Amino acid sequence: MSSEAVRIGVFLCRCHDKGSCDMLDFARLRDFLQGYEDIVLVEEHDHLCSLESMQEFKKAITDNQIDRIILGMCSPNKHLEEFRDAAGEVGVNRYMVDSVNIREQIAFIHLDEPEEMQIKLADQFAMAIAKSKATRPADKVYAVVDDHRCNGCHICYTVCDKDAITMVPDKHGRVSEVSLVDKEKCWGCGVCVTSCPVDAIDMTVYSNREMVAQVDAFIERMRPDAVNALVLSCHWCAYPAADGAGSKRIPIDPHFRSIRTLCSGRADPDWILKAITKGADGVLLLGGKPHACHFESGNIRTMSRMKLIKLLMSQLGLHDNRFHVEWVDPEDPEHYAQVVNDFISELKKLGPNPLVSLEKDYTSAKTKKKG
Ligand code: SF4
Ligand code: SF4
Repeated sequence: MSSEAVRIGVFLCRCHDKGSCDMLDFARLRDFLQGYEDIVLVEEHDHLCSLESMQEFKKAITDNQIDRIILGMCSPNKHLEEFRDAAGEVGVNRYMVDSVNIREQIAFIHLDEPEEMQIKLADQFAMAIAKSKATRPADKVYAVVDDHRCNGCHICYTVCDKDAITMVPDKHGRVSEVSLVDKEKCWGCGVCVTSCPVDAIDMTVYSNREMVAQVDAFIERMRPDAVNALVLSCHWCAYPAADGAGSKRIPIDPHFRSIRTLCSGRADPDWILKAITKGADGVLLLGGKPHACHFESGNIRTMSRMKLIKLLMSQLGLHDNRFHVEWVDPEDPEHYAQVVNDFISELKKLGPNPLVSLEKDYTSAKTKKKG
């Protein structure tokens, strides 16, 4: 990734949920964040969503020439869009504003393990910082085709539920037709992106670059003495279920890190295999129930693609329980909590990812040979 200069502002909401958010050690988090040279401001607020804080937020952006923002606050389903609007008023593109859900998906569910809660808080910020640096301004979330790469196979045209794709003559004359996305019709599900065999499509927001940056940050911060699980949750079903688990204070094992995708169909097998081959103990993919997908058939496309991952894992000698796909109803937080807890307890039974010790053996054999 390029080392272009960025100016990130982090705004933390202490909220006033005594006994939950108060468990978070903001001083420790602030020290962690100030270790990043791209972060030019870390501000704490009692109620970030108050009118007064919103005015201070806008002033701080202008005063510090901030060009990207990470909010540490409640679920993005609550106030994120208001902050995007406010940032837009002072000249920051709305998609340069994102959040870490420190309330429903950290503080409220890991109350019994305060130290793990704190480590997870830092990890989720590290992933958000990596994503923020990879984000580019956009006017809307939609798919874009690289017409120099497209080979005209028609796969994206076939999988798009929204008739947003047409095949048009190739103006470069390489092939007869290439794909073209109508951005007004595109819903941003990302199913075409993960279906393209030659990586010719990407999203304007939640781009491959942003998603891979988060996976890389997760990999970088994995701990040899802990279970390292990655949970990919679709925005429309699994994510609200996770928020519901937080609102109900359902305890969840903290040994997982979360990435939000717009649709489970956007989850790229490459990310999953990268995490697992680099030593993650397991990856859990959560999407909406069949026929309840916000994007119509995103989850059905996921199902067929994910079988391939299990096959590849078995060829690497990995237990296929290290990757699991589950459909979650947004109104069923108990099910979400159960699925995550069961997955982590299965990973604990399976023990560390064997590829980690294989790699260590290989590296030490190589070093001995050289010596
Ligand atoms: S799936 Fe990829 S290669 Fe095939 S038509 Fe669409 S953009 Fe082109
Ligand atoms: S992102 Fe989804 S809606 Fe948009 S073109 Fe691709 S498949 Fe169609």
